[in-house]
Amino acid sequence: MDRKAFNSISYGLYIVSSVDADGRYVGCVANTFQQVTSEPPMVSVALNKENHTTKCIDVSKKFCVSVLSESADMELVGKFGFHSSKDVDKFEAVSFNVAESGLPELAQCSAAVFHVDVVDTVDVGTHILFIGEVKDARVVSDETPMTYSYYHTVLRGKTPPKASSYNGGGTQDSNQNFNGEAAADKDTPASSNGNQGKGRIGWRCSLCGYVVEMDELPDDFECPICGMGKEFFERIELD
Ligand code: FE
Repeated sequence: MDRKAFNSISYGLYIVSSVDADGRYVGCVANTFQQVTSEPPMVSVALNKENHTTKCIDVSKKFCVSVLSESADMELVGKFGFHSSKDVDKFEAVSFNVAESGLPELAQCSAAVFHVDVVDTVDVGTHILFIGEVKDARVVSDETPMTYSYYHTVLRGKTPPKASSYNGGGTQDSNQNFNGEAAADKDTPASSNGNQGKGRIGWRCSLCGYVVEMDELPDDFECPICGMGKEFFERIELD
């Protein structure tokens, strides 16, 4: 089987949110959201069983999907994709509204939102496929929805190991499913030490792919996207 065939499947990128038993808002990034039927309007999303958000949706039986727009940056994707809602409040630093469903929807970097009641779940091994009926859907901006291809090629985002079809670390144009509560990056140097004129040195996070231009990393350096320490960075030549 040629696994590269999976790279030809098109997706978008979404923040899937819900609420835990204590009323805390939880959420993660997914690319596997899609419409299933029109009447009634049904959708599905596949989420990794290890995700805290997955466990919460399994209990709350409802979720919200915010369709990310191209204005979303890696910090936003990384916040929801590389950390667990069990440990951090992902909504703390983002603008959001609480809808009638009681669930948070992004009020920034979003093109549309869907509020869904789960009507069926399918155990697909590493993941749970949630199938639900859309109870509310709204266009919230005229921004262009982000495609998974845009995420890979423009934001240089990567796919986390907990993804549905993770192939062992991919290329930037791979379409491995993104639905861990972990994953993303950017190759754009985040800072410069004015080292122009000679080989520019950078460090790449081996987990999310974030690149910082710097001769040496401080011992206490932490990846701004996924939070990993200095030992997870590999030295690279930028050009
Ligand atoms: Fe990282």
